[in-house]
Amino acid sequence: MAGPTLLKESGPREVFCGLTSIVWLHRRMPDAFFLVVGSRTCAHLIQSAAGVMIFAEPRFGTAILSERDLAGLADAHEELDRVARELLQRRPEIKTLFLVGSCPSEVIKLDLARAAERLNEEMQGQVRVVNYSGSGIETTFTQGEDGALAALVPLLPDSDERQLLLVGTLADAVEDRLIHLFGRLGISSIRSLPPRQSTELPAVGSGTTVLLTQPYLTETSRRLKDRGARILQAPFPLGAEGSRAWMAAAAEDFAVPPVTVEAVLNPLMARAQQALAPHRAMLEGKRIFLLPESQLELPLARFLQRECGMELVEVGTPYLNREQMREELALLPEGTAVMEGQHVEQQLDRVRDSQPDLVVCGMGLANPLEAEGIATKWSIELVFSPIHGIDQAGDLAELFSRPLRRRQLIQPALHPEARHNPIHN
Ligand code: SF4
Repeated sequence: MAGPTLLKESGPREVFCGLTSIVWLHRRMPDAFFLVVGSRTCAHLIQSAAGVMIFAEPRFGTAILSERDLAGLADAHEELDRVARELLQRRPEIKTLFLVGSCPSEVIKLDLARAAERLNEEMQGQVRVVNYSGSGIETTFTQGEDGALAALVPLLPDSDERQLLLVGTLADAVEDRLIHLFGRLGISSIRSLPPRQSTELPAVGSGTTVLLTQPYLTETSRRLKDRGARILQAPFPLGAEGSRAWMAAAAEDFAVPPVTVEAVLNPLMARAQQALAPHRAMLEGKRIFLLPESQLELPLARFLQRECGMELVEVGTPYLNREQMREELALLPEGTAVMEGQHVEQQLDRVRDSQPDLVVCGMGLANPLEAEGIATKWSIELVFSPIHGIDQAGDLAELFSRPLRRRQLIQPALHPEARHNPIHN
């Protein structure tokens, strides 16, 4: 059958856990608070991912209830309730409290769903308490967002009103721009999940058409479907081509005439081509290896191959939801190796054997690869950068051309053949 070659492997993994997504979820919903029931490791992870002190909680909205606080307690549930109660008394501005689970066995023994129920009863609507898992055993870093949004779905009010629901965290400025463009297409009833305030939850029902802004929201979209919403199949809004197809899918669903779509989007496409040109000049013909981490790998690979002329050595993804990724898979060149799962040692061997020009990977793998002379791009940076939409295609390409340009500057005299010989690096 034509299309990419779908492969699977499992073994040791080297990815961030779902706690990482708290960083951008809290930035999006400043009135929400994330109580991580975790360990010292969890505290360090959040601290380094956020670049802030976790205990500066008024600024950051995160606190850690550590396994040492829970160890040996006759009733850890009581302790959790006490910490949550004290927190909410001290911080009355918190409107939604997320109890976030993690890996330690003391934590796994806790029933956070029951704790959320108990606290909701006690708070009588003053604050909403929900729970999800950010554990590294169960989640990679973007799946934390899926868990948090899926936990919010049961709280969404019912409505059969005709509306477009954008699902997945976007930078506010990017979201404003997309809403403006949808408005020009004639689609004006648009809501977002997550909203900018956790109390402004969108309604959902049979009139709701969902456009996923991120490819990793499997559980959230399943729950939205159960609430009557229709999930559109489209490429994801990364790169000019993907973003155009994504917007066009919504336009078709709302019966916007194709001529209107062309009038609004074609000038943006022309501008995007101009913005892409200098980056394409740097990226064209270069070989890229994407290691699995963010689940953004497939749309990124499609963009880098089709719009920047890169050659795909291997496209890794922690999970492959074939249904949700159908449109993306269809746009990858025949025979592209798409690897679901991870055996980090074997993957690194393949990276070394193939000597790509650029590797997209987690922070933990970037340093050793750079030390071996292989240019890298941190996948986490892509989640923190405003990269969605036709207007952002040039900026997205720049994230990949920059490390190559930097390498060229560092090694101006390096003969192109030399990269295949580690001695020269
Ligand atoms: Fe905490 Fe587990 Fe994530 Fe480590 S992998 S930071 S223990 S949740």
